[in-house]
Amino acid sequence: MKKFLVGPVEIPEEVLDSMHQPSISHRTPAYEKVHQKVEAQLQKLFGTEQEIMINTSSGTGSMEAAIANCFSRGDHVLVPLMGNFSRQFATMCRAYHLDVETIEFEYGESADPAVVEEHLKPETKGIFLTHNESSSGVMHDLEAFAKLTRDRDCLLVVDSISGAGGLPIQMDAWGVDIIITSSQKCLMSPAGLSFMALSDKAWKRTETSDLPRFYFDLQRQREFNKKHQTATTPGIYNLFAVSKALDMMEAEGFDAVQARSKRLADKLRSGLKAMGFKLFAKPQALASDTLTTVYLPGEAKIWHEKLKQKGFLVGGGLVPYQEDTIRIGTMGYVFDQDIDELLEAMKELLDE
Ligand SMILES: *Cc1c(COP(=O)(O)O)cnc(C)c1O
Repeated sequence: MKKFLVGPVEIPEEVLDSMHQPSISHRTPAYEKVHQKVEAQLQKLFGTEQEIMINTSSGTGSMEAAIANCFSRGDHVLVPLMGNFSRQFATMCRAYHLDVETIEFEYGESADPAVVEEHLKPETKGIFLTHNESSSGVMHDLEAFAKLTRDRDCLLVVDSISGAGGLPIQMDAWGVDIIITSSQKCLMSPAGLSFMALSDKAWKRTETSDLPRFYFDLQRQREFNKKHQTATTPGIYNLFAVSKALDMMEAEGFDAVQARSKRLADKLRSGLKAMGFKLFAKPQALASDTLTTVYLPGEAKIWHEKLKQKGFLVGGGLVPYQEDTIRIGTMGYVFDQDIDELLEAMKELLDE
């Protein structure tokens, strides 16, 4: 079965094998070495010289950490909505008693920075942006959004859980304040770890934020990170896996991995369009390079099943489009031949 999943994705054998080794303590040089190496590799992927916080949680944990450490009760924040994951970000901000103003975009559209800018108030403390909306298959130009926050006391907080590793990011050069990702998407590893980096402006906020936190206290985490450790026991085996995956990506070239995702997404989209399939991302949207959502009104479950019978596992649609969309991942361990074979299978099914 060839998998075109959108998280958790397929895990290469080498990555699985890397976990088969004796247990080590997280207070030893052997651990610190892996921690430090992974941090350096993620700095390259994020385009930052800032420290990387390694959290033992899925990506949502780091999203929560960003809110709990850098905001205060009642802060006005903007959350552009364009799908399920951005919606969840808004719900989390509300759970932490932020004053959340959502800006609705149609499913299939990317959020427009010019429209978001119109909602900025002098007291706005943050914009929460989903880099790559994994439900609808659209992505965003982080540099354009960072321009909105760069010169004010407002943080650009980016959920790049299905982006980082697959999409280019220049956190420092663009002025992004917080980048978050997790292990089970473009990093082609088991779920269980998430990673985040904070700008100086975001670190400064951790000194004044009044929200409760303990497990995800980033200042405490930072103290331990100086020694290449974590405050509490990390998912050590997960880190072995991520370390191996990053080595594989670095051997191919981080830029080359991203170029491959883009090339495969282009090939997939043009192949699908040529056969008459409709893409869910609207023509004016920035279609995602790590996952493509195909619009199959009323027939998504049938296509999902038929593809499975042919040996291809794709991602199902998300509410409310679970009957109308399938999602095909071009993140992680997917190559040209896989996309060619998938397109061929879809053509055969169409002919039947
Ligand atoms: C998968 C995903 C999440 C959820 O991440 P978890 O690691 O499951 O917590 C959030 N946002 C986006 C864009 C995602 O793709």
